[in-house]
Amino acid sequence: MSAKPASQRSLPVVDGSVADAAVAAEAGRLADQAAGPRDIAAVRTLRVSVTDRCNLRCTYCMPAEGMKWIPKGDLLDFEEITRIARTAIDLGITNFKITGGEPLLRQQVEDLVAMLRALPGCGELSLTTNGILLAERAAGLRAAGIERVTVSLDTLRADRFRALTRTGHIERVWEGIAAAEAAGMTPLKINVVVLRDGNVDEVAAFADLTREHKRDVRFIEFMPLGQSKALTGADQFVPYAEIRGAIEAVHGPLVEAGRGVGHGPARHFRMAGARGRIGFIHAMSAPFCSTCNRLRLTPEGQLRSCLFDGGEVDLRPLVRGSLRADALRQAFVDCVRLKPDRHQMYGNRQMSQIGG
Ligand code: SAM
Ligand code: SF4
Repeated sequence: MSAKPASQRSLPVVDGSVADAAVAAEAGRLADQAAGPRDIAAVRTLRVSVTDRCNLRCTYCMPAEGMKWIPKGDLLDFEEITRIARTAIDLGITNFKITGGEPLLRQQVEDLVAMLRALPGCGELSLTTNGILLAERAAGLRAAGIERVTVSLDTLRADRFRALTRTGHIERVWEGIAAAEAAGMTPLKINVVVLRDGNVDEVAAFADLTREHKRDVRFIEFMPLGQSKALTGADQFVPYAEIRGAIEAVHGPLVEAGRGVGHGPARHFRMAGARGRIGFIHAMSAPFCSTCNRLRLTPEGQLRSCLFDGGEVDLRPLVRGSLRADALRQAFVDCVRLKPDRHQMYGNRQMSQIGG
């Protein structure tokens, strides 16, 4: 097992026609930096995907039919995930984000949350969800130990939501958001993947959600992971500079707001007078590989170094049967060394399979 040679690591392309000075400067700054983190001490967060299944079929994430799910017997069980988390904590990786697929489809995921919460040294526990089942689960998740949730919501229009998810009702998501905030899982984050043919005309309206509420709205550049590009049938990528420009054209200049709560990759800003923040995850136009502080655990136990590049280490043999604690620790150290200097332009696996 070895990291890819530098010659196989391609630099992302920044579209000169739309990249503004800030993005170009950011890309230049990153290009000047040495290799991304290769040291386990730099890792702060483990994203734990508990299932690849989902109750929605977002057009950019999954086909309408024909997904091949991981057999249930191949999923890590909660004891196995907890053992891995214990090792992670020993290595200084203390924050855990539960994700999927749709994590609330994993039966009694609250039990896993409670098991992680009980681990000595466990830091922040958070969860990313499409919100459909959140209304009835929010209080239980909070009681089990989830401190914050991220809800994915790509449109504010009911008709579009239905079309984009092929099946969902947007009211369910808003009920989920209200329940999460009522349960104290704040500040809540809303993730918006910006799509050329889907919602680019709504970014200023989404930004407005931060005016009255202490929420983070985070705009994510579309990433060509797995079949995503083929699924959408056209290039849906909208660069950060264009998204920001569309927001500023309506709301005026955004002011940098620091990294603040959380440990994520987003760069944060605030509209004048707004309570919440606006974040941008510009993984394509200005990658942040050099400051990436996370690893990902797939539902079947692959420890993955990067969302895009394929470097991963199989933890399942190490946690099934008799636990080999030293080998597990070494696997984490080996995995972080597989992180690319800069990720490739395409990812080999769908976000839902890795844990976005
Ligand atoms: N089902 C949950 C949800 O939607 O929040 C958790 C898993 S989902 C894979 C995590 C995040 O990945 C969501 O915000 C989703 O919009 C985003 N995502 C999925 N495919 C993507 C892609 N090709 N590019 C950018 N973001 C993507
Ligand atoms: Fe499901 Fe999340 Fe993918 Fe949408 S983005 S299909 S909600 S896993």
